[in-house]
Amino acid sequence: MDLATVTSHRLARGRDDLALAPGETLLAGGTWLFSEPQPEVSGLVDLTTLGWPDWESEPDALRIGATCTVERALGAPWGPAASLVSAAADSFLMSWKVQHVATVGGNLALALPAGAMVSLSAGLGASVVIWTPDGGTREQPVVDFVTGAGTTTLAPGEVIRAVDVPVAALSLPLAFRRTSLTPLGRAAAVVVGCGRTITLTASTTRPVVLDADDLDAGLAEVDCWYDDPHGPADWRAHVTGVLAREVRSDLAR
Ligand SMILES: Cc1cc2nc3c(=O)[nH]c(=O)nc-3n(C[C@H](O)[C@H](O)[C@H](O)COP(=O)(O)OP(=O)(O)OC[C@H]3O[C@@H](n4cnc5c(N)ncnc54)[C@H](O)[C@@H]3O)c2cc1C
Repeated sequence: MDLATVTSHRLARGRDDLALAPGETLLAGGTWLFSEPQPEVSGLVDLTTLGWPDWESEPDALRIGATCTVERALGAPWGPAASLVSAAADSFLMSWKVQHVATVGGNLALALPAGAMVSLSAGLGASVVIWTPDGGTREQPVVDFVTGAGTTTLAPGEVIRAVDVPVAALSLPLAFRRTSLTPLGRAAAVVVGCGRTITLTASTTRPVVLDADDLDAGLAEVDCWYDDPHGPADWRAHVTGVLAREVRSDLAR
């Protein structure tokens, strides 16, 4: 949709361009920004012109740039984790167009329970790399970065630069399960297994990491089941338990 209140569009070329004036907001893929009215937004600062690489190989991590689209992220060197990444990306079942344009950073910043990149990165034990307005950088595990449905630890002026996925996680046993109320509906429960950890998203307001060896006790303690038109909380708790036990079986194989 048109954003009728927007009167300026700046292309960011460097870090100095990320200082926002009143009314300005960051623009990445724009799939969410242009999907609903933004009456308080008068200017857009485009991150996609910063020239960040889609991915870089760090000594211990695969770094996915925040402006990498979900579709392009599929081409990163995931090794044995490629099928897990593909399954997570396909969680964007509502529209292939969204997967084509939406960025990894935008998905993390929105922090929706059904955030496909939240599910993937939390499940692999990844950390968010954040540029702070004083010129510094901070890193935080995705499971701590997302604090609730649509809430994160991002402070005003902070920008997600990348997400670092530990290379060691990519060669651990991996498993993925997803369900939704309707075949092409938004994800209602996503469970990712990695080694001995089982991470719940979509059915919970924030990512929850459980120990596969203590799964039932962990499930019983979950206190943040999500409730919205894509599934009531009690149903989500039940199907998540079923999926998590399937993931545990897969990991044990
Ligand atoms: C039809 C449809 C289906 C959708 N399905 C899903 C779904 O299944 N799951 C889901 O999670 N979402 C879904 N969405 C919402 C949204 O499209 C995605 O979350 C997408 O990943 C957002 O990324 P983007 O790059 O388009 O972000 P944008 O729309 O450009 O930005 C989203 C927000 O994040 C901020 N932002 C963007 N990048 C950064 C950054 N690097 N640092 C700090 N802040 C930043 C922006 O300022 C804005 O507030 C859907 C949207 C539509 C229209």
